[in-house]
Amino acid sequence: MPAAEAPPLVVADALVVTQDAARRVVRGDVRVEGGRFVHVGPGATREGAEVVDGHRFAVVPGFVNAHTHVAMGLLRGIADDVDLSGFLETLFRVDARRAESDVEAGARAGVAEMLLGGTTSFLDLYYFEDAVARATEALGARGFLGWAVLDPDKTTQPGAPLDNAAGFLGRWKGHRTVTPLVAPQGVYVCSRETWLGAKELAERHGTLLHYHLSETRREVHEHEARTGRRPAAWLEEIGFLGPRQVAAHAVWLTGEEIAVLARRRVGIAHCASSNLKLASGGVAPVVELRAAGATVGLGTDSVASNNSLSMLREMHLAGLVQKNQRWDASVLSAQELLDLVTVEGAKLLGRESDLGSVEVGKRADFSLVRLDHPSVVPARPEAIVSHLAYAMSDEAIDSVYVDGHPVVRNRALVRVDWERVRRDAEAASEALWAGGSSRR
Ligand SMILES: [Zn+2]
Repeated sequence: MPAAEAPPLVVADALVVTQDAARRVVRGDVRVEGGRFVHVGPGATREGAEVVDGHRFAVVPGFVNAHTHVAMGLLRGIADDVDLSGFLETLFRVDARRAESDVEAGARAGVAEMLLGGTTSFLDLYYFEDAVARATEALGARGFLGWAVLDPDKTTQPGAPLDNAAGFLGRWKGHRTVTPLVAPQGVYVCSRETWLGAKELAERHGTLLHYHLSETRREVHEHEARTGRRPAAWLEEIGFLGPRQVAAHAVWLTGEEIAVLARRRVGIAHCASSNLKLASGGVAPVVELRAAGATVGLGTDSVASNNSLSMLREMHLAGLVQKNQRWDASVLSAQELLDLVTVEGAKLLGRESDLGSVEVGKRADFSLVRLDHPSVVPARPEAIVSHLAYAMSDEAIDSVYVDGHPVVRNRALVRVDWERVRRDAEAASEALWAGGSSRR
């Protein structure tokens, strides 16, 4: 593990996409000290610092992936071209065979993919999260890791999920870059007691809750048949909804549910690719949620349903789908799309005061983007936000820093050897794929 404090660093004469309150794009220097930005703009002192010539780079805030299951990195392509119920059938079968060691191998591959795509923070939902935490720490990312909680009779986890989650919180609380949290899986596997137990546990530890919500019509209809309420309305009725929560998907919501989620200050992780690929049918009401005052971020979901962890791809798709769905090219502008994966993502995590933008005082989580990459030409300052939202390839991301520490340099991971990560992932995938994919 590197020293807690990174040595001083100056990126000189770069195009800085600040994502500050005025959304300024400025040419200037960025100085990092003690893991934080201490100067953004012209004329930074270079004293005692490593200096990176930034004139061919844009400095861009690290992206926030607001919903994923990173350890499913070994399952890309295992359940394509089926709907959510067919997908879950394959996944539950594979899950029952998973061991902590292959979860760690999958998480390392997934974290590697995210870092190479400029994602510095991610919100995860899975079990064996200690393995995910170790992978996050080893590669140098910032992880907000939710231990999956479901009814004891519905899980493949050894032991009681709520007790497992409590143990995980105890082991990682106070870590510099790993934030442990509680993650009730969804209404289809969680009873009232499980939801409220999860909430009580999260509140006792002062941490976040992350869960799936109203992803498919089937989920909504089955829950309504069982309880007389749609999932979001039911969660309100049992007294679950509140701040410091991030609900993933939220595709099938009524106007009333949108108002309740916004009023309770529940954050939303919109997963456009996953919803489209699993044919959820509808389009998440992102515009209405934002208009109601809800904080919305973007999530990739896992590579079993996306099948990529690229936030650039996610921004592009999320924007196009909303525009087309509404016959309105002006909704979710390029600037708004970039907001969703930076400042809004940080807000979802309750970390807007120290993540999400390149501003003095914030943690130095950022990427250096090549301005000479074919997908970024012409690299005009007034078009750089557009390029990020609609055009840029992950290949244009040259270097990535977390807390001022380099974690990717010249498109190579700094802290681990990719060949080793890849070989371990390929080896661990053998046993998981042995039962066959869902391909017919
Ligand atoms: Zn998910």
